[in-house]
Amino acid sequence: TVVVLSHHVPYGRITASDFEVKSTGTPSEANLKDHEIIVTPHYVSVDPYMRGRIVGASDSYVPPFGEGKAIDGYGVAKVVASKSAKFAANDVVVGAGIPFVKYSVLNVGPGSHLEHLLQKAQGPLADVPVEWHVGNIGMPSFTAWYGLKEIGKPKKGETIVVSAASGAVGQVVVQLSKLLGLRVVAAAGSDEKVQYLKDTLKADVAFNYKKASSYADALSQACPKGIDIYFDNVGGEFLDAVLEKANTFARIIACGAISQYQVEKGQAYGIQNYSRVIARQLTIQGFIISDYYLSHYAQFVKEISNYVKKGQFTYKLDVTQGLENAPQALVGVLEGKNFGKAVVKVD
Ligand code: NDP
Repeated sequence: TVVVLSHHVPYGRITASDFEVKSTGTPSEANLKDHEIIVTPHYVSVDPYMRGRIVGASDSYVPPFGEGKAIDGYGVAKVVASKSAKFAANDVVVGAGIPFVKYSVLNVGPGSHLEHLLQKAQGPLADVPVEWHVGNIGMPSFTAWYGLKEIGKPKKGETIVVSAASGAVGQVVVQLSKLLGLRVVAAAGSDEKVQYLKDTLKADVAFNYKKASSYADALSQACPKGIDIYFDNVGGEFLDAVLEKANTFARIIACGAISQYQVEKGQAYGIQNYSRVIARQLTIQGFIISDYYLSHYAQFVKEISNYVKKGQFTYKLDVTQGLENAPQALVGVLEGKNFGKAVVKVD
């Protein structure tokens, strides 16, 4: 099985029919060349940034998917056969660049595109269950940890607002914020998600933004002392409402803007409250998590593993079975259908 992008979609919503699921043969070990390995994924991750790779033009920070080519992403895979000194058969490999293909031949040699994207799960990473690599210690979880700590600079007692709060990144922001003694206000798009945020993740306030009469009113009610930190996963109108309620010196962690990823040409939301950035001396800082693996990932894994061991951290996966259902799973993420981190289980 292989998941192929049929064509680029510059604007608007994608559907599963923009992809094609084909069958492929199994590559033969006998044909492997030096520096090549055969892998089969355990799990592949479907993530919002992938929409940027479907646009076509390289306005995204990752290169576009090729038309008629297999898509790829973060994941965890097993090495079936190897002619690389870096990997052996049965190794677990993690990272980006894992094709959405049941079996694929990858060149991992020096200078290859995958040389630094794929790693062997070794040391403390070798002992964790495979789903941790797309869950507890996966890319979105790391994103949450890094953004909150390094950009949010949280201080006990402050109020943080988190959007897309039950999702892959958001659920981690909520839990870490509670562990750090913040007052957490969480927004999500269904009553079921809101219930989860309150009952399981212990958000101080959680609300269904789709039912709010206005975002500004909902935020005023939820944040009587204003907003000190905003972890922004959605951008657009919700960000605008936060700008209006932000306290002096508030920090805005510009993680994502999913509300804008699928708008039609010329329909991007125009921020009204920009002048608050100056008047309230706000900091808005974006970041691309792949830039921080070398410098921060080990520390992140150590901290999260400790929290998991102590029963202070949980991670909800939304598992879709079967590679053939990956297109629908990705469409679902962009339409808010996922509840927890969306992943596809391959075997
Ligand atoms: P999620 O698991 O949170 O899934 C996406 C969620 O976004 C949906 O479930 C939905 O939740 C919400 N959503 C979808 N469409 C809209 C919309 N039109 N308006 C508002 N909300 C919407 O995804 P992730 O946690 O993986 O990603 C969250 C954000 O973080 C994304 O913007 C992503 O691009 C960004 N990101 C950035 C990284 C970086 O390096 N900067 C790395 C990883 C992620 P709900 O039902 O609550 O609306």
